[in-house]
Amino acid sequence: MKLLVVEDDVRMAGLLHRGLVQERWAVDIARDGVDARHAISSTPYDAVVCDVGLPDESGFDWCRWLRSKGHGMPVLMLTARTGIEDRILGLDCGADDYLGKPFAFGELAARLRALLRRGEIPRPVVLEHGDLRLDPAAHTVRWGDSPVELSPREFALLDYLMRRPGEVVRRSDILDHVWDYAYDGTSNVVDVYVRYLRLRLAAAGAPEQLETVRGVGYRLVVQP
Ligand code: CA
Repeated sequence: MKLLVVEDDVRMAGLLHRGLVQERWAVDIARDGVDARHAISSTPYDAVVCDVGLPDESGFDWCRWLRSKGHGMPVLMLTARTGIEDRILGLDCGADDYLGKPFAFGELAARLRALLRRGEIPRPVVLEHGDLRLDPAAHTVRWGDSPVELSPREFALLDYLMRRPGEVVRRSDILDHVWDYAYDGTSNVVDVYVRYLRLRLAAAGAPEQLETVRGVGYRLVVQP
């Protein structure tokens, strides 16, 4: 297993290097975002440990860049900041796990082993379907260059469907996943919201994306 550690603090980088090599992992160190971009472009890594406070960019932005380039290896973020906002930002930018400094090296190694067991899986930060783009963290939807304005419920519905392109999705599944458990209305509400969603997408100039599968539910049409 080959790891990339992105860390500008020399002492911390040295500590991580020694510990990870003892775990029998091959380890490269990058000192900043630019250095790390070069490393990623030339070497296939199995996992990345990334400090949030880099000298040239934030680790969050760097991780977002990594995912935008289609790299799916696990990423563990390290930071001195452990506020909930940072944790959310870290996970939304495509990181898989998060560890606040100071940490016990044993915990870092255990978390890395868990991430490496999962291996590389596609984990796009932004959902794309043809020219339709949905950013779950920024809560934005675009059709090409046009923003699509959606209510929170319409957004959640589109998010759910975009994760299942080409699949027939049952009304009851949509109700379970997009409406909370307190909702005790009928599944007609799904049809109503699909209609809203179609209108919003059409207003942004998108061709029909949502196919009605009679008696069952809906399908996000996969464009040829
Ligand atoms: Ca740092």
